[in-house]
Amino acid sequence: SDDPSIGSSLQPCIAPAREECKWGDTTPSVAKKVKVQSWFQLPDGNWDLVSIIKTSGNESLIKLSEEKVLKVNNESLVSANPDILDGVDDLMQLSFLNEPSVLYNLQYRYDRDIIYTKAGPVLVAVNPLKKVPLYGDEYVEAYRRKKMEGPHVYAIADTAMREMIRDEVNQSIIISGESGAGKTETAKIAMQYLAALCGGSGIENEILKTNPILESFGNAKTSRNDNSSRFGKLIEIHFSETGKISGAQIQTFLLEKSRVVQCTEGERSYHIFYQLCAGAPSPLKEKLNLKSAKEFKYLTQSSCCSISGVDDAEQFRIVEEALDVVHVSKDNQERIFAMVAAVLWLGEVSFTVIDDENHVKPVEDEGLVNVSSLIGCDIEELKLTLSIRKMEVGNENIVQKLTLSQAIDTRDALAKSIYSCLFDWLVEQVNKSLAVGKRRTGRSISILDIYGFESFERNSFEQFCINYANERLQQHFNRHLFKLQQEEYIQDGIDFTKVDFEDNQDCLNLFEKKPLGLLSLLDEETTFPSATDLTFAIKLKKHLKSNSCFRGDRAESFTVSHYAGEVTYDTSGFLEKNRDLLHMDSIQLLSSCKCHLPQIFASAMLSQSENSGVGPLYKSGGADSQKLSVATKFKGQLFQLMQRLSNTTSHFIRCIKPNNLQSPGIYDQGLVLQQLRCCGVLEVVRISRSGFPTRMSHQKFARRYGFLLLDHVASQDPLSVSVAILHQFNILPELYHVGYTKLFFRTGQMGVLEDTRNRTL
Ligand code: ADP
Ligand code: MG
Repeated sequence: SDDPSIGSSLQPCIAPAREECKWGDTTPSVAKKVKVQSWFQLPDGNWDLVSIIKTSGNESLIKLSEEKVLKVNNESLVSANPDILDGVDDLMQLSFLNEPSVLYNLQYRYDRDIIYTKAGPVLVAVNPLKKVPLYGDEYVEAYRRKKMEGPHVYAIADTAMREMIRDEVNQSIIISGESGAGKTETAKIAMQYLAALCGGSGIENEILKTNPILESFGNAKTSRNDNSSRFGKLIEIHFSETGKISGAQIQTFLLEKSRVVQCTEGERSYHIFYQLCAGAPSPLKEKLNLKSAKEFKYLTQSSCCSISGVDDAEQFRIVEEALDVVHVSKDNQERIFAMVAAVLWLGEVSFTVIDDENHVKPVEDEGLVNVSSLIGCDIEELKLTLSIRKMEVGNENIVQKLTLSQAIDTRDALAKSIYSCLFDWLVEQVNKSLAVGKRRTGRSISILDIYGFESFERNSFEQFCINYANERLQQHFNRHLFKLQQEEYIQDGIDFTKVDFEDNQDCLNLFEKKPLGLLSLLDEETTFPSATDLTFAIKLKKHLKSNSCFRGDRAESFTVSHYAGEVTYDTSGFLEKNRDLLHMDSIQLLSSCKCHLPQIFASAMLSQSENSGVGPLYKSGGADSQKLSVATKFKGQLFQLMQRLSNTTSHFIRCIKPNNLQSPGIYDQGLVLQQLRCCGVLEVVRISRSGFPTRMSHQKFARRYGFLLLDHVASQDPLSVSVAILHQFNILPELYHVGYTKLFFRTGQMGVLEDTRNRTL
């Protein structure tokens, strides 16, 4: 037999059951050819770079990196790239664009603190989770003067700036990734570069100072990130004719309100609560009757009150200073903090049972007194709001007493509403301040920092909205990328017959179709008083069962096939969260407040009575006031966002979290791979595979392989030399294209040339 003698150390042929490697190079010409080194997936899921000792038939004898020798099926081997391609700047330079090669390349760089890598037009940023020496004046200078060209956020910001000026087109930098992947930090780094490059008027400092403010009010410690943004953000930076920053505008999306009144073990509520308690100077503390964070019920639902390495008191001073910079007056600052304190005191309000039907009224203690004085409402009104509900039935007004759970819900809804009004108001103030540079030329760079695709064990309404948003962004990404690719081929004079690529329009239709799409059906069900989360699930199954992106599984859940994978949503809470109602009594209470914060509750009132004709409206609490559903409002925001982005040249940054421990130096292959799949990096790679992804300039190609030529070439120009090499190696015409400046190859071709070159050297 041809088989080498197999020692006792050898295990039986392992051919791990795995999906046919979608990204792997499976073109027959390459699969047959034995590579010196290959990727082999170990039982723990990690890929190992193995040497092939011998191949016979469809089996190979391989040596693992830890020296063990194994006989395996050839199909379990995935082509590895030649050493010369170790740690290339751009994944597109890899001859083999399979998953293990991409993973390895990113890891190779990450291990050397080179956290940025290009994947064609996309910048991949692997979170270092420690300080890395890649930023600051020297680096800014280097990128500005183009002395440095390696992949970097600075390079992206620089390109955006140059293209804005050159093409007179607005730009956008779209940052996505999981929670903790580094989106917000990346957005700040991009802003810092633009501020350094285009500052001068002082407005750039104001723009940078919006970060600590929004983070204080909109970020919280979660299990995945000590400083997790609980809202999406688009900041549009405006430029004057001379290319200087002249102002900015911020738009926020979907603040997570529930965190104000409840949070999971190990997590915290919004930073500002702890910062205020820890850092307020004594007179303010007294004025607001503040206690320490540990003494407020809303903050002690989880036993976590501090973040290691973070001084909340110090952070408070930073926030105060930032508020000064964006021109929020000291008076208004105090009013803001009064609202924050009011929320904390609302959490202290407790109830006593007043009859044998379990109806309750609030206890008149310091909690109730403090709330009424802080928000400036009559204490009797507040008591009423927390104990009864007025309703209109037919033509009659009836009064319903609240049970304990209804009263708690009312109290918590009030707290959430006050906080979200405060957040919106604050963003509005910041925007007023940033709008001072009125000389807008209409040119801008927008930076989008938005939650990436989420798929947990249990997925609820929040994930539903987030993933819908990501589905929209993915379509923008696909279209943009496709256009870019096409342009590159055309620019280099190559006949580009359309490369097919997947679109996610089907999934978007599942969400958006009227009247039988997820969003319409959700809104319809939300308006039915007798509907429940279960009837909603049943309704979806009835109408959508034939949709290829939809699957109805268990009773109260449904599954959507997203571009990034399947997600099963649990419908419980969907209707309530989509309605997001504040009862009329609470609305009236808030509008009667004399909290002195001009118009703070105006937006709440507005959103409760909004009627832009975009979607169904809900009666709230039986009174005249109506509002849009949360999903419909979000959809509107999203459409507006997409409209805005579609008028820009987009630059994409995909942030990757290397491990779930928030620790530096650990590269979890499985985790990284899953993110690469979700954020479309491998999709970019896949799209490119269907084209001619390997590129090299005529010069470089001639220099690298010219010496292999056997016959003398009459003309020594790079193009002629290149063509002669291609002919000598009998590279089939369908495997390459000769462009004006570059050679374009199908995947794997460069490997063939490299092998020959290595053998010759
Ligand atoms: P996301 O916004 O994606 O949830 P963040 O931007 O808040 O994630 O990043 C989470 C944490 O990771 C930050 O608090 C910081 O400690 C670290 N981090 C992210 N990017 C960098 C970076 N470029 N350099 C150093 N640390 C970083
Ligand atoms: Mg963030």
